[in-house]
Amino acid sequence: MTKLSRRSFVGGAAAFIGAPALIGCATVPRRWTLDPFTLGVASGSPSPDGFVLWTRLAPEPLSFDPFALAGMRGDAVELAYEIAADPELRTIVARGTARADPAFAYSVHIEAEGLKPGRPYWYRFMSGDAVSRTGRAMTSTAPGAPLERFKFGFVSCSNYEHGYFAAYRHLADEQPDAVVYLGDYIYEYASPPDVVVRRHSQIAEITTLADYRNRYTQYRLDPDLQRLHAETTALMTWDDHEVQNDYADRWSEDFEDPERFLFRRAGAYQAYYEHMPVRALSRPNGPVMRVYDRYSFGDLVEIALIDGRQYRSRGACYAPPDKGGTHFETDASCPERLDERRSLLGVEQETWLYDRFDRSLARWNVLASDVMIGQFHFPNPAGEATFTTDDWNGYPAARTRLLSRIRDSRLSNPVTIAGDMHSFWANDLKLDFDNPSSPTVATEFVGTSVSAIPPPYEAFAAQLSSNPYVRFFESRVRGYASVTVDHGTMTTRFNALADVRSPTSAISTLKTFVIENGKAGLVAA
Ligand code: FE
Ligand code: CA
Repeated sequence: MTKLSRRSFVGGAAAFIGAPALIGCATVPRRWTLDPFTLGVASGSPSPDGFVLWTRLAPEPLSFDPFALAGMRGDAVELAYEIAADPELRTIVARGTARADPAFAYSVHIEAEGLKPGRPYWYRFMSGDAVSRTGRAMTSTAPGAPLERFKFGFVSCSNYEHGYFAAYRHLADEQPDAVVYLGDYIYEYASPPDVVVRRHSQIAEITTLADYRNRYTQYRLDPDLQRLHAETTALMTWDDHEVQNDYADRWSEDFEDPERFLFRRAGAYQAYYEHMPVRALSRPNGPVMRVYDRYSFGDLVEIALIDGRQYRSRGACYAPPDKGGTHFETDASCPERLDERRSLLGVEQETWLYDRFDRSLARWNVLASDVMIGQFHFPNPAGEATFTTDDWNGYPAARTRLLSRIRDSRLSNPVTIAGDMHSFWANDLKLDFDNPSSPTVATEFVGTSVSAIPPPYEAFAAQLSSNPYVRFFESRVRGYASVTVDHGTMTTRFNALADVRSPTSAISTLKTFVIENGKAGLVAA
């Protein structure tokens, strides 16, 4: 793969037309021998007057050459961009330049401002004689301003090795106002051959910044994922596989030294930043990076995206198997699970979130969690209730705090969405799951994986009778969810692919749920 001898562009002497001369940057290449915009474009983090626009220069996207990041070498490169009011880019409303910095793998993050609320714009990037594809981005409607209708999709768990991303294509076809990415956007591990549909470019588990960069690059070359980013505006959070399966803050799945693991996490977080349309507040500082945020869409919807990984307390009864660990499942023999001091979000994020509950102006309040909130237990060999420690079931006191705050703040129409389970779920969230007369505080929708292999259907389905607040479960299909909201109802559709092993797979609606304004709980439509 090494292409040390190959130059990806020839330097030009003059700055290109229309851009000002720049100080402290490399001479802008006039002529590229390879397209630098192989990874496409993306928009995200919408506000009433703008959004983030992203691209990354990668003329040799999968090159492992350590001295030329995806074919790029040398100083920062200046890019130009244009934002237009029409798809043909005839009416340019904003233009400018941005620095593609080698410290961030020649990615750019533009925070566009001064645009009109609640409408689409079209944009592109230029460098010398190279022009990117045209992207489409939506601004949001100002908090509290009237908005009739809003449509969003939510997706999670796209494992490149386990299938094609037809779900992303079908969601792009729906032209939603925003797409919520709930995590497991990449997978860090190598799959056993029997489940592999197409291979990651590195067969071993990835651990370094260079590895994670290469992994994001490979995913972004997927035409369906690239198109979804180009045509829709992203709201981003992450889960575990952006770093390592089941990690919790600095504690790794394989009991690695926490300081060493934080070094790995820093590389993974940086690569995430470099590839996502996120704001400057997300710029990483070593192993620390903020992704949690909230977005308002008029008087209709507020979406709060939380980070369930970076700040969580260590998993309950975390220990290697030879030292009494139970591999991320616990029963009553682990009272640590119930400890009220433990948190999934960390004190700072919890405070931020509860403050948002108190201040929301929206009719529908969506809490986007990487991992499932609803209670689910299964029996150990002795028949006693056993819980995973990796989602909110491992942090029940924190879950009770969260649901109590939702109720106490009288949050209007709370609905939660989650990923991680590789299966569709619709759950009632009870203030006290062990008390049948306890009120239902919110409804939860869990979306299936875009492609990642599912948990065994029969084993989970057999537990539904002892988990009465799980109202719907299906793990045998891959796909995505789409949600349409107006002032009277929220309609959630679970969409299922015919065959994840086919890039041209058809899609169909598996199930539709309606929630009526002011009434907690589901109505199956
Ligand atoms: Fe996953
Ligand atoms: Ca996960």
